[in-house]
Amino acid sequence: TKPIVALVGRPNVGKSTFFNRLIGERRAIVEDMPGTTRDRIYGDTFWNGRDFTVVDTAGLLFGGDDPNLPVAEMSRRTREQANLAIEEADAVIFMVDGREGMTAADNEVADVLRGTSKPVVLAVNKCDSVERNLDAVEFYALNLGEPIPMSAFHSLGTGDVLDRLVEAF
Ligand code: GDP
Ligand code: MG
Repeated sequence: TKPIVALVGRPNVGKSTFFNRLIGERRAIVEDMPGTTRDRIYGDTFWNGRDFTVVDTAGLLFGGDDPNLPVAEMSRRTREQANLAIEEADAVIFMVDGREGMTAADNEVADVLRGTSKPVVLAVNKCDSVERNLDAVEFYALNLGEPIPMSAFHSLGTGDVLDRLVEAF
């Protein structure tokens, strides 16, 4: 059976945009509002001759679209969401936003991911130009290995992310 790769990260970092690029169909819902992806969406793809299934994880459990949620509840949902995604996955692409920089939610997810033995590739999205690749450097602090700059929009660096990923299978 094919390895399952979970796309994990807080809402609005660009998971669904990357998923759509990988799958080649507009099956995931991409919107400016955080937390729009309500369900898990699966798609099959391949890289360097390796087949795998990608999962675009739900945004709902994050509660990212509810400004009234207490911080502790946000934190609990974020961790729960990350745990659910890891559980069914053979490898994880952890996506963060290089333009926004590191956030508390990124730290919550990273904390969960550091506890897994499954391979994690740290993808810093929205590095839309070579100059913006420097935005990835601060994410070394998450202690999840080398942050790989990429832009789902401009298809920059995505090959590097996928190289790391299939190496890890
Ligand atoms: P998700 O919530 O993580 O699934 O994020 P989405 O894929 O829905 O994207 C959230 C927003 O970020 C949308 O407005 C996207 O158009 C935008 N976005 C996604 N990838 C990139 C990128 O590489 N560069 C820039 N500048 N914006 C992006
Ligand atoms: Mg989404």
